[in-house]
Amino acid sequence: MAAFLMACVLNGTTADEASALTRVLVASGETVDLAPVLARRDGPTIDKHSTGGVSDSTSLIVGPLLAAAGATIVKLSGRGLGHTGGTLDKLESVPGMRVDLSIDELRDVATSTGFVIAAQSDRLVPADRALYALRDVTATVPSTGLIASSVMSKKLVSGAETIVLDCKAGDGAFMPTAEAAVALADLCVRIGTAAGRRTVALVTAMDAPLGRAVGNALEVAEVIELLHAAPDAATPLVDVALALASEGLAAARAGAVGSGGGVEWGGGAEVPAVRRELERRWADGEALAALRATIAAQGGDPAVCDDPWERLEQAPVRRVVTAPAAGVVTAIPARAVGEIAARLGAGRAQKGDRVDPAVGLVLDVTVGERIDRGAPLATVHARTDDAAATAAQALAEIVMVGDVDVHPAPVVLDVRRGSGPAPA
Ligand code: URA
Repeated sequence: MAAFLMACVLNGTTADEASALTRVLVASGETVDLAPVLARRDGPTIDKHSTGGVSDSTSLIVGPLLAAAGATIVKLSGRGLGHTGGTLDKLESVPGMRVDLSIDELRDVATSTGFVIAAQSDRLVPADRALYALRDVTATVPSTGLIASSVMSKKLVSGAETIVLDCKAGDGAFMPTAEAAVALADLCVRIGTAAGRRTVALVTAMDAPLGRAVGNALEVAEVIELLHAAPDAATPLVDVALALASEGLAAARAGAVGSGGGVEWGGGAEVPAVRRELERRWADGEALAALRATIAAQGGDPAVCDDPWERLEQAPVRRVVTAPAAGVVTAIPARAVGEIAARLGAGRAQKGDRVDPAVGLVLDVTVGERIDRGAPLATVHARTDDAAATAAQALAEIVMVGDVDVHPAPVVLDVRRGSGPAPA
């Protein structure tokens, strides 16, 4: 297997080869049959996946927003690894929240709330687990074909008719350049379409953290605070979440799902109207209500959605990092910020380590912002004074303040829409 993986890295894979590998991975375990859920719920089924980033809490917004719009989202998520955060770790900072659900429990929560988010069990895509572990120790992770088949195998087993992907590009992502992320997006879309699923992939920037909070409870609190207000698309986390949700819902609604009539889609003309609908639902509090319902159904304390800081654990030490000079924030490198949060305890040094829900950091500035000398750049949330001092020093070294004007670049870089028959 190691020789096979190395051949994939060195020679690349064709789209057909990547599709074939995906099918083998899917066939290695069970699949989630959503028929019992759909028998009791109208509306499309949608799944969402990100290739991983820093302060990327979009799943906690996209899932509830789509459920509020009548879709069913069965989402198998991962844990953080290295500098990237994981949705399961974030959710487990909510007191009582369970993410290790059986397939029956997955279906029950999906039926009652429309949105369930849980860990991948041993019974789903076991070959991907084995291959991923082997890739990790044979330096064969960075292969577009292997990443695409790994990601898509997990999406195909969860049974959704529509798949929306967030392929991240930049310093804090697996794919360092937009070109590489577009190639990954195209391959994922081809694999999904060949498997009879409507698949759409966004390519989004991961040069700076997507939100302001980096750390598990801190990111949950940020999402809840965002869901309490009307959505502001000038906030990158809000913009990417809305873009993913509206692309996914527009694809899912195109044509008559279940007709099997070979309806073509892929134009994206419906996306702006769907986005307006989702903005309205968000502003009306429907997404927050959907998140509350899912948290309650998975054993979590729903009151976290009223006042997150009443219920989430808070770190005992806070330390503010200030700007050494007046100027413009020119860079907040995502990877380095993620590494600082991970060293505080928000991430793992090794698989199996426990994460600390309370620690991390909250940025006070964004790239392009003009600031005065002594203005706060970020607040570190730490377990000890020493950890806070080390993190504050590291942050002060990486957040760049200069005297040039920097115009914030768009976060959504590209959208790759598949076209294909409506799933039967
Ligand atoms: N995420 C996955 O699930 N698999 C990969 O290979 C890379 C990112």
